[in-house]
Amino acid sequence: MESLEWLSEDGTFAAKASDKAIEFIRHQCVAAGHQETGGILVGYYTPKRECAIITKASEAPADSRSGRLRFYRGVVGLRDWLARLWRGEKREYYLGEWHFHPAKSPDMSSLDTAQMKDIAQNGSYRCPEPLLLIASGHPSSSFVVSLFVCPHGKPPMRMQPCSVPPPPNQHED
Ligand SMILES: [Zn+2]
Repeated sequence: MESLEWLSEDGTFAAKASDKAIEFIRHQCVAAGHQETGGILVGYYTPKRECAIITKASEAPADSRSGRLRFYRGVVGLRDWLARLWRGEKREYYLGEWHFHPAKSPDMSSLDTAQMKDIAQNGSYRCPEPLLLIASGHPSSSFVVSLFVCPHGKPPMRMQPCSVPPPPNQHED
């Protein structure tokens, strides 16, 4: 799968996800079967903060709770992982959350909206504009990925996918 890019409708937020992060999420969704799952997104902003670059995603922490229609992400192991990433060459940090909705549409649920609002206003995340990536459909055939930005004090915004040129080794004929 090629890397994905999004732009908010008002043009103020842009984001990009690496193939590696999307493939990792897809594998987690396959493993989850009919249960929801999720984790966090990490990466960094470009120097002028005009674009969020999602480089990696976590698996669901061991203390997460999930069902067919709900997911509460746990915290076990995330603090150490984030500390290691921050000390790394790319200085990656928390950018938001990802969810798998196997039995629902790729939209934010009311629970999702409430959780993202909490994250945006919770100082310990240091993330006033968290992203929520929602994977839905069947991970090995009709896998759909959508992205929302949830700025503190504003309603969440759905990001629009941008067209990405195909990799050079693919031809359309
Ligand atoms: Zn959700």
